[in-house]
Amino acid sequence: RFITLEGGEGAGKSTVIAALRDALEAAGEDVVCTREPGGTPLAEEIRGLLLDPQHEAAVPQAELLLVFAARAQHVKRTILPALQRGAWVICDRFTDSSYAYQGGGRGLDAQFIAELERRAVGILPAMTLLLDIDVHEGRVRTSSRDLWPDRIEREQEDFFARARGVFLMRAEADPGRFRVIDAARPRERVAAEAVAHLLRLRES
Ligand code: C5P
Repeated sequence: RFITLEGGEGAGKSTVIAALRDALEAAGEDVVCTREPGGTPLAEEIRGLLLDPQHEAAVPQAELLLVFAARAQHVKRTILPALQRGAWVICDRFTDSSYAYQGGGRGLDAQFIAELERRAVGILPAMTLLLDIDVHEGRVRTSSRDLWPDRIEREQEDFFARARGVFLMRAEADPGRFRVIDAARPRERVAAEAVAHLLRLRES
């Protein structure tokens, strides 16, 4: 089954992903952990184009199309084959991040994103764990390590606050798929809650 993790800066996605992997492996499951943008050689190259501060910063439309180019490749080459052989796939970010960052953050039209999703992705996670944290609190927890280049200067808390708003709105609109986890609590508590959601899904 296909599980995605979403959330802001410093929400602790990596710790949660490691805990989910351990829990599934302990239960004897085949697990594939992957990330976006990325997850195949071509998609990782696209990630490099977007993240490397040496490169020209992408305009919002170019960023959206590059992220979706990577995602289309990732779905066909990595995610679907793994699901077809019966593995669990845990993905660090997926299409919800495009609605949050390219949509809410960069101001692109959600209809445009939905159209790309429909035509180039076509799959929806069985469960999406949203690690929700106050933008400022999240920033305090993290260095600027994974920030996209032009985010560091130009886009500050505003940008991330808009992205958070979109994540929460989407979670509210689809409570069957989303589980919202308060990520301001200690890491172990956050990870334990995520694992509990996962095991409940596995039993259902
Ligand atoms: O997953 P991680 O927290 O490392 O992502 C770092 C940043 O990458 C996000 O905070 C966001 O600025 C950016 N990002 C984005 N659009 C995506 C995925 C990530 O702008 N689709």
